Amino acid sequence: MHELKLHNTLTGKTEPFVPLAAGEVKMYTCGPTVYDYAHIGNFRTFVFQDILRRYLKQRGLKLHHVMNLTDVDDRIIANAAAAHLGIREYTEKFAQAFFADCKALNIQAPEHWIRATDHIPDMVKLIEDLREKSFTYDSEGSIYYRIAKFPEYGKLSKIDLTGIQAGARVDNDRYEKESARDFALWKAPKPGEHFWETDIGPGRPGWHIECSAMAMKYLGETLDIHTGGIDLAFPHHENEIAQSEGATGKPFVRYWVHAEHLLVEGEKMSKSLGNFYTMRDLYGKGYKPSALRYALASVPYRRQLNFTFDGLTQATNSVERLRTFADRLKQGKFPPGSPAGFKERAGKALDDFDAGLADDLNTAVALAAAFDFLREANIAMDSGRFGSEDASAAAEFLAKFDEVFAVVAVNDAEKLKELGYGPAGDGLGDSEIDAMLAERQAARQRRDFAKSDEIRKKLADSGIILEDSKDGSVRWKRK
Ligand SMILES: [Zn+2]
Repeated sequence: MHELKLHNTLTGKTEPFVPLAAGEVKMYTCGPTVYDYAHIGNFRTFVFQDILRRYLKQRGLKLHHVMNLTDVDDRIIANAAAAHLGIREYTEKFAQAFFADCKALNIQAPEHWIRATDHIPDMVKLIEDLREKSFTYDSEGSIYYRIAKFPEYGKLSKIDLTGIQAGARVDNDRYEKESARDFALWKAPKPGEHFWETDIGPGRPGWHIECSAMAMKYLGETLDIHTGGIDLAFPHHENEIAQSEGATGKPFVRYWVHAEHLLVEGEKMSKSLGNFYTMRDLYGKGYKPSALRYALASVPYRRQLNFTFDGLTQATNSVERLRTFADRLKQGKFPPGSPAGFKERAGKALDDFDAGLADDLNTAVALAAAFDFLREANIAMDSGRFGSEDASAAAEFLAKFDEVFAVVAVNDAEKLKELGYGPAGDGLGDSEIDAMLAERQAARQRRDFAKSDEIRKKLADSGIILEDSKDGSVRWKRK
């Protein structure tokens, strides 16, 4: 295994990653704000953190990973009030949609998937701790964080605080660097809006205190890794640092790891430009979850990802190549031994794959290692030089590859069906198709070609295409 390095936003450097406790990683990921369906920009970050998570596990590390659902913030409060719904009622639909979207994208569930509204007492306690240490002041029923009291404020996002007036406040959860001010930890209730009755008065938490309180509750005062989109570095993560370190006096996070923005066809994604996509929008257009996962994972997380429909088609083809290869390994008939020396070649592929991921999660290098190997192995198979030992070494490599990338299993149709998508009339599940294929093979063996053609046609009518290969095996795919 190569030494793992991660880029740390806090230091601005790519550093060797060494967890605080040997063999264990404490990691926190800011989850979605469940006021709408999460979009592909959000999922770029979630797929990145899943790749990181899976790779850490592949390295034998035990994960303690927390992801929250922000189910209370300005937008949720306002939308729920407008819809005359309680906030649980309002957010539940989007929370369930998020879980389903993650499942479709093979994003592993973290060890703790938690909701902000289940942790109000923890937030109140943290605000009380900060109040005791005079980091806070009250104004009109709200409680603010006094950033002048925390001289290190700005160390993550490197903002210049000169010229900021002491006591100037900002009430919004989200704001730009130019309006860096004392921010709200606790917000006074507004008429018609949801609030909690607590020891620090009636009201609701600010967005930033949620993550500080939840992260420290489950992971302790110092975390190994905190991930999120780069747009969260300021103010959200800056404020998390101010709150947590203000209260504990200890470093909050050792490695801040941020994913870059996603563009769509070279432009910023926005509803007004008409280039705004949720996963469901793309499934509706006929794209597969595996292709989306691949497209989002294929660009290293610190590079801007330009999401294009051409790229999505390429991703579809790449996934197809991987699956075809897996199929060849499974169904092919190989001579004994390792005539082409692919046992060693597979070892090198794995080493290159690991080197790519160890280098600040360079997924592009890791994928190149896999596809170089596939190309060479396919050539060896075509020329009959590929042996059974080569095949098992290749299968072992592919399994390691898929522990991280998770795109090889053929289950898109089932996933789409679960989400309510799928070609009309295509009621065939993978196992039914396999059964029909076996029946067709049997018919061919007894030279009953009428029966074999009939089955082929039945499958074609359901959108299943068959490919007969020279070695007698048959592969299928959905149109
Ligand atoms: Zn957060």
